[in-house]
Amino acid sequence: MDFSTLSELYSKLENESSGNKLREILAEFFLSTNKEEPTLLPTLTYLSLGKIAPDYKNSVLGIAEKLLLKAIAKAANKGSKETMTLMQKDGDVGLVAQKLLKVKPMTLVPVAKLTVEELWKTLHKIKSISGNKSQDTKEKILISLFQKTTGSEAKYLARIILQNMRLGVADMTVLDALAIAFTGEKSNKKILERAYNVCPDLAVIASSLVELGLEGIGDIPIKVGRPIRVMLAQRVASLSGVSEKISGELQVEAKYDGERIQIHKDSSGKITLYSRRMEDITYQYPDVQSFLKQEIAKTAQSYILEGEIMALDLEKGGHKNFQTLMKRKRKTEIEKHAKQIPVAIYCFDILLLNEKNLMNESFTVREKALESILKKKDRIRRIEFIKTNEVSEAKAYFDKMIARGEEGVIIKSQGEGSLYKAGARDWNWIKWKKDYNHELVDTFDLVVIGAFYGKGKRSGTYGSLLCATYNHETDTFESISKLGTGLTDKMLEEIPFLLRKHEVDKKPARCNVKKEMTPDLWFEPYLVVEVIAAEITKGGLHTCSMHSVMNKSTGKKEMKGYALRFPRLIQIRADKKPEDGTYSEEIVGIANN
Ligand code: AMP
Repeated sequence: MDFSTLSELYSKLENESSGNKLREILAEFFLSTNKEEPTLLPTLTYLSLGKIAPDYKNSVLGIAEKLLLKAIAKAANKGSKETMTLMQKDGDVGLVAQKLLKVKPMTLVPVAKLTVEELWKTLHKIKSISGNKSQDTKEKILISLFQKTTGSEAKYLARIILQNMRLGVADMTVLDALAIAFTGEKSNKKILERAYNVCPDLAVIASSLVELGLEGIGDIPIKVGRPIRVMLAQRVASLSGVSEKISGELQVEAKYDGERIQIHKDSSGKITLYSRRMEDITYQYPDVQSFLKQEIAKTAQSYILEGEIMALDLEKGGHKNFQTLMKRKRKTEIEKHAKQIPVAIYCFDILLLNEKNLMNESFTVREKALESILKKKDRIRRIEFIKTNEVSEAKAYFDKMIARGEEGVIIKSQGEGSLYKAGARDWNWIKWKKDYNHELVDTFDLVVIGAFYGKGKRSGTYGSLLCATYNHETDTFESISKLGTGLTDKMLEEIPFLLRKHEVDKKPARCNVKKEMTPDLWFEPYLVVEVIAAEITKGGLHTCSMHSVMNKSTGKKEMKGYALRFPRLIQIRADKKPEDGTYSEEIVGIANN
């Protein structure tokens, strides 16, 4: 397939403002690919997102903007001055590439068209290059790639290389499109998503769907070295509501505010650590790898464990906060920071032991298996917990945790149905967090989809952010709040920097916003922020779980959505993906309680 065909797809997606059409365009593309070049389908599930592999395979190309600009200028036979002037004006390497390569550059030997197969191979080659002369080698490869492109092809090629497509599509959109293309029914996405929860690799899902059909897709096994989407907790409005959801004995576990980690060890001894976003973060924690080797029973040849990683305060005892732990998120001086910020893992679940899948076993079976392999419990510890039949005891345990500065508790069912449900927000786990302040109800993880310019003291930066919840059913981001409070000067510097690469010139197709709430700047869903609010209200300004309501005084039906009253930003949640944000349905649950 010529790269120009793929570029046409990008262009259609980029210009589409309806989420449903976006999915149809992708579905049509997958169908025709499967007819004409079926072997390319798995590759194209990733390339359609501008990616070269699933996130867990460390697909980062690591090409700096500067190197890319240099290569584009050389491919186009243009000087660096002209290139830099364009860059200053447009601020977007893609647009610079498009302008400089408006016409095919002159080359000594005629060059063939770029094909998708060649692009795929070359991008993987670039990823594997390291060492002394790597920059020169990469530059040469980039020049030859760009010499084969013109106009918008060059723009998209630059964006793929910088891994910043701004198309507003994500893995869930591809699952929708695969369901439409190969089952004729978008609602079958649910079945595909269940498979994706245990195998978050779109290429495997696509090829299994085509080969085995919908019935076969449920048989994709879990595998050590391939992360499993984490199970999430539901929330209740008051602790007394727990007994309606969980019967029998409760396991009340401490809820520490650290980073969730999924630990995989294969039978050769290889350890891989995955973040909640399913990114490979093994390199960040060399210390954790050696703790695991020392402290987990040798009988555990292979395992998949889950826990919360916490920064330790070795002087005073106890833990340091989430922000301190986040300092371990770095690419350089890793050993130094491992010494400065010691950590421990608090394990709370086990999904596989010695190649046996434990996800479909009850909580008590998993608990026994976990306990049997935690030997030393020095840095690989068991999460603290109590078992009780009384909600009042759960409350006393919660108070104890809060007094110690922890975030709260997670109450877990131990009954027969207490399976590990990958990717699900399930009533077998219920979280109960502290109230930060009497009038404030709860915290939410919201996705920033827009910004309004500031005035007065905030002129020149953002005055407020447009925030959204994630509607899991429809795969859309629905606005819930205009957020101006809690933005410190430091955040006002950091947030525009983080969002700069995600700015788009119109509403992203998967975002649902009312005209009245149109922001000055749009961002594709990327950044998640933790927000606290006093109350959830219903009104006509936001689209969160929008539904028709009868206006009693006029007798007419109006569309109303949920909004947050007195929202305040607490912190940026770099550990969460937009699709991990608070679901719109959670807001409905809390509002109706
Ligand atoms: P939240 O991010 O507020 O939805 O809370 C869920 C997160 O709490 C999980 O993703 C874990 O990172 C964290 N967590 C802390 N302690 C536990 C525990 N005992 N069991 C499950 N999750 C926990």
